[in-house]
Amino acid sequence: MKGRVIKSTGSWYTVNAEGKYIQARLKGKFKQQDLKLTNPIAVGDWVELDVEPGQETAVIRSILPRENYVIRKSTRNQHFSHIIASNLDQAMLIITMDQPRTSTGFIDRFLVSTESFRIPAILVVNKMDLLQSKKKGKEWLENLHEIYDPLDIPVIEISAQSDQDLSSRFQELLQGKSTLIAGHSGVGKSTLLNKLVPKAKQSTQEISKFSSKGVHTTTFAELFELDGGGDLIDTPGIKEFGILDIEENELSHYFPEMRAYLGHCKFHNCRHVNEPGCVVLEKLEEGEIHPSRYRSYLNMLEEEESHR
Ligand code: GDP
Ligand code: ZN
Repeated sequence: MKGRVIKSTGSWYTVNAEGKYIQARLKGKFKQQDLKLTNPIAVGDWVELDVEPGQETAVIRSILPRENYVIRKSTRNQHFSHIIASNLDQAMLIITMDQPRTSTGFIDRFLVSTESFRIPAILVVNKMDLLQSKKKGKEWLENLHEIYDPLDIPVIEISAQSDQDLSSRFQELLQGKSTLIAGHSGVGKSTLLNKLVPKAKQSTQEISKFSSKGVHTTTFAELFELDGGGDLIDTPGIKEFGILDIEENELSHYFPEMRAYLGHCKFHNCRHVNEPGCVVLEKLEEGEIHPSRYRSYLNMLEEEESHR
């Protein structure tokens, strides 16, 4: 029997096998594909099950090859990574202007991650009800469109709390897709999730009850099925994803507007900082590369270098 992992507690996995929810676990013989992982099975994985006779449980026999996945470095051992979720069609970052403020630096870091994992990204501006009347809010939003529209990254406006119906453009984007949800704490991820998947509510509350007692501080991603097909994968407690190993001089490959000029600079190992004959700097000057994106690039480059 084949199924998709929708929840993990570390030892037991909830698997949706043809519409039936089965509790499954691993047995000794299971071969891990990548020994550098702290979790052999992740939410979103497709697995093959051996259902145990006369029981509601199953053993995971094998895991089907992952189309893609999102990882981060293990907090305990930096030589290991933790798979957050796999087999995703897109990743959506929920952002807000304030309470909390989401910076363009944070957005660009997210976009470099999704580029490196080859997962299309969507930016969803929440709490539009708080922005609409403010001049500052309007400018902030216009700026986002100015930066991200040319990169073909959808910027969608919603009010998870007050909209009666979320825009049809937004609903359509989610239809039939497997979408990862990310964002700072407080941007309205749970509010949105509860609106789209009413039965998610209880589960979300369970997690917070648990963590407030300090019993269970590790949080796990969880997959919620949408009524009209498709699903949302919530990542409670996960602020940032990792970035797949980026070699020196490779950061610009994850900025599509810079990648377009790959190999055009005078020096093949150009870092696009102050080198003569740098085409990226030229395009920045000409306004083809947005200064905000370039600023994020420099900040990330600096950080990369300080880690070396
Ligand atoms: P999470 O930490 O990302 O899961 O955020 P929550 O869903 O818990 O929301 C944080 C706070 O923002 C809560 O007080 C929500 O009621 C509020 N909130 C969520 N969406 C909206 C919105 O569209 N408009 C306004 N004004 N508040 C919202
Ligand atoms: Zn250059």
